[in-house]
Amino acid sequence: MSSPQPHFLVLTFPFQGHIAPALRLAKRLLAATPDALVTFSTTEVAHRRMFPAKPDGAEVPAEEHGGRLEFLPFSDGTEAGYVRSTDPGAFNSYMASFHAEGARTVAEIVDALAAPGRPPVAVFVIYFHYFHGHADVVAEHRHDPSFVVELPGLMPLTIGDLPNFLTDAIDPSDFFHSVFNTFHDLMETLDKESPKATVLVNTCQELELSALAAVGAHHVLPVGPVLPPGDVSGIFKQDDESEYMEWLDAKPENSVVYVSFGSLATMAREQLDELLLGLEESERPYLCVIRKDIKVALVDREAEMLHERLKNGMVVEWCDQVRVLSHAAVGCFVTHCGWNSVLESVASGVPMVCVPRMSDQRMNAQLVVRDWRVGVRAQIDEGGVLREAELRRCIEEVMDNPEVAAEVGKWKRIVVEATGKGGSSDRNLMAFNGARSVV
Ligand code: UDP
Ligand code: UDP
Repeated sequence: MSSPQPHFLVLTFPFQGHIAPALRLAKRLLAATPDALVTFSTTEVAHRRMFPAKPDGAEVPAEEHGGRLEFLPFSDGTEAGYVRSTDPGAFNSYMASFHAEGARTVAEIVDALAAPGRPPVAVFVIYFHYFHGHADVVAEHRHDPSFVVELPGLMPLTIGDLPNFLTDAIDPSDFFHSVFNTFHDLMETLDKESPKATVLVNTCQELELSALAAVGAHHVLPVGPVLPPGDVSGIFKQDDESEYMEWLDAKPENSVVYVSFGSLATMAREQLDELLLGLEESERPYLCVIRKDIKVALVDREAEMLHERLKNGMVVEWCDQVRVLSHAAVGCFVTHCGWNSVLESVASGVPMVCVPRMSDQRMNAQLVVRDWRVGVRAQIDEGGVLREAELRRCIEEVMDNPEVAAEVGKWKRIVVEATGKGGSSDRNLMAFNGARSVV
């Protein structure tokens, strides 16, 4: 007698930084459960950007993904249509529709999302960052950025270091108010209706030991960092890979400064000038990502001049960051501290210059600098600009620094071990696969 084909439904927020790790998780699930079907679901627009050659979305040939990974753009649940946006608000109202008057149980969500003709969904994986909220203290002091809060399992953090969606969420007119409430409701629903439900998080036990212990009452299972191999490209079109990889090949070991601020952050003209000036003046080779949407904000002639001005570096619009970070020539990463970037850097053994701006980035920077000691935080001036001299100071502090190099090497080994066969995250994923409960 054969048991039914296990079916995992992976539902993700429509951002690059969520889609990529969720997709890697989907592939891990497939690798660990070879007879499984994984349905990967995000908004229709994000889906199209992932597969620009396949405008029809769901019609991605199955064989590209081993025949068992299928794509299902969101149906919005109210009409027969789709959520036609990468706008998180659209995702949010979509999720909220499942919570209207507490009408739907998790099982009903699973039913609603499952397409006809597929095996029933056994596992429902919602991919989001779980934060154990302490809203009252935060609410009381939210206008005082230097007020220190002590949250279970974390080093003391100032209000200014907290993810701004927590502080902003308090204001009912703020966009994050509804985002936060949706996540909060979802956790409550899970607690009530599926008390044994597991929450998968993209970290490993060793990286966040005390934070994970603090949320131990909920069944939180670290299964990360979920990194390639076997990735598909992101929702952005890459520059020609051979060009920058060859450029890197010609550079000495640990000599290159890699610079990227992720998929969302924008940059003012003044900041772009300071950044490029600082990089040029550092007299080290650098590879800098300036996305097309940032470039188009410059007038044509200025965008052209961008390349003319460069002596020591190369600018790309988008690259395969994981490949770049694991290249031996890269010696430091100037990063906005998006969670994926931070994990990718730690896993590749590259020290960081942290330039956090918003969201969870400042808290991530604190982990990098204070807990793991694999980087330094750059100070910005009153106008919010990172000045060229400060950038150079930070680059010099982390590069060719034997103490930083020792920590970086240590954490790389820890992460490689955790995600390798028999490591803590690998064992957790196996245990999750074995349990096959609704998540
Ligand atoms: N993130 C992650 N795993 C998760 C949820 C989030 O790696 O389960 C990362 C995400 O990629 C992003 C960061 O956490 O870098 C913060 O996500 P958030 O939604 O706060 O904001 P974003 O950076 O996408 O604007
Ligand atoms: N990334 C990339 N190429 C680039 C810039 C970024 O592949 O040129 C990827 C990076 O590897 C990471 C993701 O985009 O996986 C950005 O996610 P992160 O959580 O760091 O930041 P966010 O974009 O959510 O702010």
